[in-house]
Amino acid sequence: SEPLLSVKNLKKFFQVRKGFPNPKTVTVRALDGISFEVQRGQAFALVGESGCGKSTAGRTILRLLEPDEGTIEFDGQDIGKADAKQMRALRKRAQIIFQDPFSSLNPRMRVGTALAEPLLVHGLMGKKEADERVRDLLEEVGLPRDAGVRFPHEFSGGQRQRLGIARALTLNPELIIADEPVSALDVSIQSQILTLLRDLQQRLNLSFIFISHDLGVVRYFCQVMAVMYLGKIIEKGPVPKIFDEPLHPYTVMLRDASPVPDPTARKAFERIEGEVPSAVNPPSGCHFHPRCPHVMDVCRKVYPDFIAVDAERSVACHLYADGRGGLPVAETAAA
Ligand code: SF4
Ligand code: MG
Repeated sequence: SEPLLSVKNLKKFFQVRKGFPNPKTVTVRALDGISFEVQRGQAFALVGESGCGKSTAGRTILRLLEPDEGTIEFDGQDIGKADAKQMRALRKRAQIIFQDPFSSLNPRMRVGTALAEPLLVHGLMGKKEADERVRDLLEEVGLPRDAGVRFPHEFSGGQRQRLGIARALTLNPELIIADEPVSALDVSIQSQILTLLRDLQQRLNLSFIFISHDLGVVRYFCQVMAVMYLGKIIEKGPVPKIFDEPLHPYTVMLRDASPVPDPTARKAFERIEGEVPSAVNPPSGCHFHPRCPHVMDVCRKVYPDFIAVDAERSVACHLYADGRGGLPVAETAAA
């Protein structure tokens, strides 16, 4: 069937001033030609270290940032060409949840009033009906039905993320982009929020783009994943297959830094060797080559093609080019 979302060759560049004492304008290729599809009811993960472009991807897909190149199709419609009116209609169908829900809650507004606002602004219902919908939403995310009379500061971190989720659900979206939705929460609260998200996903048949640096969380929540490195997707495939047999040496590194299928296993990337190079001036050839244990001459010169290894999996690595065999067997065996 048709994917709900189809992203092709999406690019987003930023100009930044850099250098001392004579700063120059340089281009950061935050998103350097990424492509993927999200099916209806699927949880798709965008995974990578901070600065890899995954948050930029989430924002650009919803056109909170304007793409520089590429196409974004939502339910067959080209979002890149949508005018303001069409974007308003689309924003009902695709919502975003941020890491810090507090930032999107007005501290001086009762949360019930804030939650009802989009229903009233879009003219979907009258005040009384909206109030009842808000009570239903609060219950749906595990808060008391009458919690709407309270102000944001009266809620704990976990409760505020429940409010962030309620806010995203208000207009009955089909797609939710969740950008590190549990990273700011205590470990004990993380699994409660993940359980809630999974329950909602299944009950409402939601599609998710789940942006995370945490492989434990991704393994718990997502069916398909794409691994990003410096603005590019370097491996893509079903989550269980990538955990069992990662193809890209970077994915191997990530997987081995986070071997426990536990949503509370955090900070995976802190244990990874080597510094992440900057997207301002990425290494030549394969961007990963300065950290790669399998680096070859060609890797320093030529960026590898993204090639399909089988029907479900793709990878950008010279080890898999021209029918080459990939990683030595010992490397891919489960730890
Ligand atoms: Fe390593 Fe070369 Fe593959 Fe890059 S292309 S991941 S440097 S083997
Ligand atoms: Mg981010």
